[in-house]
Parts: sequence; C-alpha cells; structure tokens
Amino acid sequence: MNHEYKIGTGFDAHRLVDKRPLILAGVKVDSPRGALGHSDADVACHALIDAILGALGEGDIGDRFPDTDPAYKDASSLGLLGEVAGVADRSGFKIANADVTIILESPKISLYRDKMKAKLASALGIGQKHVGVKATTTEGLGLTGRGEGVAAQAAVLIRRIGGSEPCGLE
Ligand code: MG
Repeated sequence: MNHEYKIGTGFDAHRLVDKRPLILAGVKVDSPRGALGHSDADVACHALIDAILGALGEGDIGDRFPDTDPAYKDASSLGLLGEVAGVADRSGFKIANADVTIILESPKISLYRDKMKAKLASALGIGQKHVGVKATTTEGLGLTGRGEGVAAQAAVLIRRIGGSEPCGLE
C-alpha cells in the first residue's frame, strides 16, 4: 500500500490599521484595528494556503491569487483556502492535518478558537480534530509585539490517496 506523505509550511504577516475588520481563520474578531491587505488579509488562512501549496510543490499564494488581480479584492481568504484544498484533492492528496499559530499581541483570541477550528475544518474538508489553532504573543517584541501587525505560521501534512507514484528520490 502506498502511504506517501508530504509536509508544507507557511508564514504570513499583515499590517494592522484603523477602519479594517480583523478576520482570522475565517472569523471576525472584535478589535479596534484590522489587517490591511488586498483580500480580507486573513493571515491564518494565507499561511495555511502556502503550507498546502508548499507540500504540493505548487508555488505560493502570490502566484495563485495575485494581489494585483481585482478578482481578489476583499476576497474571503477562507474561500481561497477551500480552493487550494481542492487543488490538493485533484492532485490525489488528502489533507491529514493542519496546524496554525496566530501571532498577535491583542486582543486575545481564545474565545474564538472553536469557531476558527470549525471554519478551517470545513474549508479543508477534514474533521476538527485534525485542525490545530493556537495563538501566542511575542511579549511586546517585534512587529507583532508593538501592535504594528498580525502574523501566522502554519504546517500541513498531506497524504496521497490517488495515483501510484512512489515517494522517493527519482
Ligand atoms: Mg497575506
């Protein structure tokens, strides 16, 4: 039986500004400031998209959803994540699990975690027990610590469910 696995990682950061909603993992977080970006600037979804594309060896989010394309103005990044999960599916891979860390000084997002897990699991087409959502501050250090921005990093494991190409160095 073929059990080919691939792993990918992703990272993203966006500036926090006034008069923007703060959308994280597809959930609107109550915050006086939100992330600036061409799409809805959801760093958690963006990091996960890059993790999936990285595992597939399929470039990155900027290749697939250019921020110069008006089609992605204010786009739902959760929707884009679902699209990329579909790319994995069509490539013969199923997402085994996904794990994301949101890096943000404030507000605390623990109250939103269950909702975020549910949204991500739905977009990825996997059970909630296979989705990790964590949050951390950087103790006042750096761009996130100063409140200048929000960041996220993610890891995704994908497992081949179709095709018969062996995993190896060939
Ligand atoms: Mg981004």
